[in-house]
Amino acid sequence: MKKCPSCNEKNWDYFRKVKRENEFQYFLICKNCLLIKNNTELSNSKLTDYYKNNYNKKNYSAEHNLIFDRMLIPSKFRIDLINKKGIKFSAGEKLLEIGPGSGSMLYLFEKMNLSTFAIEPDLDAVNWLKNNFKAKIFNSFFNDWVTNKDKNKEIKFDWVVLTHVLEHLKEPRLFVSQIKNELNKNGKLLIEIPNANNPYSDGKEWGYLFDPGHFYYYTIDNLEMMLNSLGFKIELITDSNLKPYKNILCIASRSETEIINYKNIIGGKYGILKLKLIWKRFEIIHILKYLFIKNPGRIVKSFFKKI
Ligand SMILES: [Zn+2]
Repeated sequence: MKKCPSCNEKNWDYFRKVKRENEFQYFLICKNCLLIKNNTELSNSKLTDYYKNNYNKKNYSAEHNLIFDRMLIPSKFRIDLINKKGIKFSAGEKLLEIGPGSGSMLYLFEKMNLSTFAIEPDLDAVNWLKNNFKAKIFNSFFNDWVTNKDKNKEIKFDWVVLTHVLEHLKEPRLFVSQIKNELNKNGKLLIEIPNANNPYSDGKEWGYLFDPGHFYYYTIDNLEMMLNSLGFKIELITDSNLKPYKNILCIASRSETEIINYKNIIGGKYGILKLKLIWKRFEIIHILKYLFIKNPGRIVKSFFKKI
């Protein structure tokens, strides 16, 4: 059994199973830091097919221009929230986005005149991005890009952006430590991930939330723990991003000094039970909503119309 990527201990317990499209996924939980792990892992070859073969279009069941329009609202939300907290993006800064999909974040960074780069494994998304954005696009997985890049022409970035990417990684700890090497001395990481404390689903079934490509489900506390232990200083971490999803949004900067996480995560039986109850509550509310409203997705659509 693997070490926990957040707390680096090997202390897993069974958490629960979730049904999605007639298949069960089994989850474990770290007794120490409450990180949840999908123990029904897809094989590497299945994963490669999964992401290279029109992942973005399939995932959103739409063409790129429609996905772009839809994702622009939460993307603007994200940037506004970061700016409001006093963190600014400056013209000329070099920014690398990993997995930009249909490019709604790249578009906003280009509008702010940042110098943009992107790594995207889905060829179909790459073609769309190349036709519509100024960014230099690499059609690759991040790991392959790191291995194959020309060390002589190495660029260091002021920003690396990972929105809804970290949860898709089998080796998040290794990945973040590799990203650290791509950042310049004062470089920052922008991360957004789903929130394990708020498993809200807008699909027909609650289990729709659990993409088989998601390996870990984080909380604010165990994300912070992982980043601190890898030498990142947290500049901003919040779940007040976009309701009803309450995703975790985090800005962390490279730090030269050691960071000790003083946050005391209450894991153990009590912490696990609390998370189990949270998941159960979201599952039951989702079932009830579906029984009475028939189409819970409607609520989200009307919510987006309002904002
Ligand atoms: Zn842990």
